Amino acid sequence: MKKVTLSVVALTMTMMSFGQTQCKSLTKDSIQCKNTTKTEVLLCHVHNPNHVTSSDKVTVICSGTTKKNTKCKNKTKDTSGLCHNHRKD
Ligand SMILES: [Zn+2]
Ligand SMILES: [Zn+2]
Repeated sequence: MKKVTLSVVALTMTMMSFGQTQCKSLTKDSIQCKNTTKTEVLLCHVHNPNHVTSSDKVTVICSGTTKKNTKCKNKTKDTSGLCHNHRKD
């Protein structure tokens, strides 16, 4: 029985890794990137210049104003357009 269980685990592992390839790009230290990718270009989301995810949000300058009544210069990705200093949560 033990042997059967092991082969099932091995099969599951193979299926899980199917279609995932290690990124072919190199890091700053000239070692191969450890991220896996499913793209044909074999580049992970970090190294693929065409990578776009739905979670990518546009960074905008905060629309709030500071105590000195000048425009806040903080950048934010929040949909409210307000930085962490100006959001009320
Ligand atoms: Zn990479
Ligand atoms: Zn702000």
